[in-house]
Amino acid sequence: MRTAVIGTGHVGLVTAGGLARWGHTVIGMDDDASKIAKLEAGGLPFFEPGLNDLVNEGVEAGRLTFTTDLEVALKDCDVAFVCVGTPGLPGGGPNLAYVERVGVEAARLATGDLVLVEKSTVPANTGVRLAQVIAREQARHGKTHNIQVASNPEFLKEGTAVQDTLFPDRVVIGSAVPEAGETLRAVYEPMLKEHGCPVVMADLQTAELIKHASNAFLATKISFINQVALICDEVGADVTTVAQGMGLDERIGQQFLRAGIGYGGSCFPKDVNAFIHLAQSIGEDFHILEAVRDVNVRMREVVIERLRQELWHLEGKTVTLLGAAFKPGTDDLREAPAMHLAKTLMAAGVKVRIFDPVAIDHVKNQLPDVECFTDVHASLRDADAAVVCTEWDEVKALTPADFAEGLGYPIVVDGRNVFDPEAMRAAGLRYTSIGRPKPKD
Ligand code: NAD
Repeated sequence: MRTAVIGTGHVGLVTAGGLARWGHTVIGMDDDASKIAKLEAGGLPFFEPGLNDLVNEGVEAGRLTFTTDLEVALKDCDVAFVCVGTPGLPGGGPNLAYVERVGVEAARLATGDLVLVEKSTVPANTGVRLAQVIAREQARHGKTHNIQVASNPEFLKEGTAVQDTLFPDRVVIGSAVPEAGETLRAVYEPMLKEHGCPVVMADLQTAELIKHASNAFLATKISFINQVALICDEVGADVTTVAQGMGLDERIGQQFLRAGIGYGGSCFPKDVNAFIHLAQSIGEDFHILEAVRDVNVRMREVVIERLRQELWHLEGKTVTLLGAAFKPGTDDLREAPAMHLAKTLMAAGVKVRIFDPVAIDHVKNQLPDVECFTDVHASLRDADAAVVCTEWDEVKALTPADFAEGLGYPIVVDGRNVFDPEAMRAAGLRYTSIGRPKPKD
């Protein structure tokens, strides 16, 4: 099929690579000319393991090209995937202006029948509104092509996005009319033949809601175990073993039960807010999700409290944050806990250092006053404390002796429960983690 991917960001570019792998002709379109220039030069606009190879494979096979021109992308296009951003607005809801703009322009530019697919994460009923916008614009321009809106939410995780796209757990397809859903299913057929994952066929609103409910549930698991961890800290229990004991129950499962300084990234914080906002807009209070959000904020405060306990006054101290990206395997800093911590610490007069192996240039751009490191050992040297924020391999490879010999004060707050408490304390470190027993002072 002839496909277009509108928005070649973290979701769009992997989608484009996957579509090309499955034998479709793909045009990746983005209105950010610098991104398209980078792609045309054989580079990537962001870091994602394995993505360069997937994109190159599509380009070399002659199936994947790029453009900044939506008219070019939509010419003779059968299925267009909308992968533009839906960033959070101050009131909590997502900004759907980018999605709407694509709908408005597609109504004018489509050269034949088209299935316009929402891959961006959008609240329930966005598809219905989009279809109305398209009908209105078609009437204005005297266009009569059959443009159907479908929903196909994306569940990839940054850091493993290529694997997640090529071998998904499930494909969710929502549409108002069965033909649009079937067309979209046919796009996935080559992957389904090879990999055979379940396909959930639904109406538009249901498909949209599956995405929001999934992310909200995953965020709930994280905040739940973090709340349990805070209780473990007080009663002297070990959250790692609690989580293991819980997760062995098949109804609960092991995943997303790792206590730490909370979730971040471009999805969970924004999607939790958007779901709360959606509920409020229809007169429902989603109290559970409000608590999920509050616990997530609380986890960052816990780190600051621990540093204050150890350092007393923060002003003038030097603190190293180990990891800036919201998780390993990505250079994405959106809503990263480390970036929040850095800003809070700087506001308290702390000299902040950050180590990150791939995101450091973005850190420099966003926080020019931070001292930036790609050498993890250099980042520790003579600092007053270190905080583990992201479990990069370079961080996990540090030994207790590296901390003890490198740091000025032997203070480590492990926000990801990476290190063995006994070994760290045996090396003379004042080591705290999240929800694991501390020795009595
Ligand atoms: P991103 O910011 O990385 O990419 C969005 C791209 O869209 C950018 O390159 C931007 O230039 C482009 N764009 C914006 N308006 C455009 C327009 N009118 N025409 C053409 N291009 C336009 O965002 P992302 O992380 O890829 O997320 C995209 C959507 O997918 C969001 O709704 C997000 O919630 C959802 N999502 C993201 C992930 C993730 O892990 N990043 C996972 C699942 C779902």
